[in-house]
Amino acid sequence: MEYQNVTGHIYDIQGYAVHDGPGIRTTVFTKGCPLSCLWCHSPESQKHEFELGYLPIKCLGVEICQNACVDVCPEGAVLIDEPMEALNGSGMIQKVKIDREKCTSCLKCAGVCMTKALYAAGWDTTVDEVYDRVIKDVGFFKNGGGITISGGEAMAQFDFTYNLAKRLKDSGVHICLDTTGFAATELFEKILPYIDLFLYDIKHMDTAAHKKLTGIGNEKILSNAQFLAEHNAALQIRVPVIPKLTDKETNLRQTAEFCVSLGEAVKLVQLLPYHKTGRMKYDRLGWQYKLTNVEPPDDDFMQKTLEMFRGYGLNCQLH
Ligand code: SF4
Ligand code: SF4
Repeated sequence: MEYQNVTGHIYDIQGYAVHDGPGIRTTVFTKGCPLSCLWCHSPESQKHEFELGYLPIKCLGVEICQNACVDVCPEGAVLIDEPMEALNGSGMIQKVKIDREKCTSCLKCAGVCMTKALYAAGWDTTVDEVYDRVIKDVGFFKNGGGITISGGEAMAQFDFTYNLAKRLKDSGVHICLDTTGFAATELFEKILPYIDLFLYDIKHMDTAAHKKLTGIGNEKILSNAQFLAEHNAALQIRVPVIPKLTDKETNLRQTAEFCVSLGEAVKLVQLLPYHKTGRMKYDRLGWQYKLTNVEPPDDDFMQKTLEMFRGYGLNCQLH
């Protein structure tokens, strides 16, 4: 089979997904993204390389593990933390903490941690492995569901994403591609016949603001959306509503007008209110969360924004 040796980096596969396109779906999350949005709720998706994650709640303490993770680290980056009361009341234990300055992400400690308190964020896989895993879920794909290939930015691992989409298409599965839109137009042209619906983010209409918020300008993203619309793609546009960053009326109106300009291609516009659920993931990776002072938008504002988008004749809903 031509696909079997095509490899990719992914960090999760989730079944029963109801927020990644129509119906009940299984979502494959690829690792690596050219953008670094300030509000990113999946920081583990940003780097292509694997990273060390640490969930202290799962740590049993070095007494039980006989210092396995401490001893295996070649950099001296696994440190023994202050004694603390065990949650199960069994007495004092000493968990570990990671010196991120020293850690080189060799992942040796994750290899010896039996509870997965230390874990590798991401793994190598092949198109065939992913196909074999997700195709088992076909019976659960209700209400127009199927497979969503998400990220990170799945187009950044084009060979993997393209071959996975192709293989799934051969099996008649409905396929969504969740994309930032930031990739070469030729790649979108190539993958277009295998994607039933693009979940496409428009994060900000002003390129300078877009660069400030995501690390890159928006020109390529907007022109790729126009290219897809002109080539009969189906688009579900996703608009993050982040207080003080993307929620100015001018920006939201320009976004709505841009969606209108894409014509029939836009099947749905989804407004994504900012939320903080990804925040704890930053701690697990030893990263700093930058939007500590931002609160989710209130319901009234979201409702008014929804009505505004609908006022442009768009099929719009809150996510
Ligand atoms: S991190 Fe894992 S190996 Fe290390 S002490 Fe905790 S449970 Fe044991
Ligand atoms: S990933 Fe490697 S360098 Fe980092 S703490 Fe674990 S063993 Fe040490």
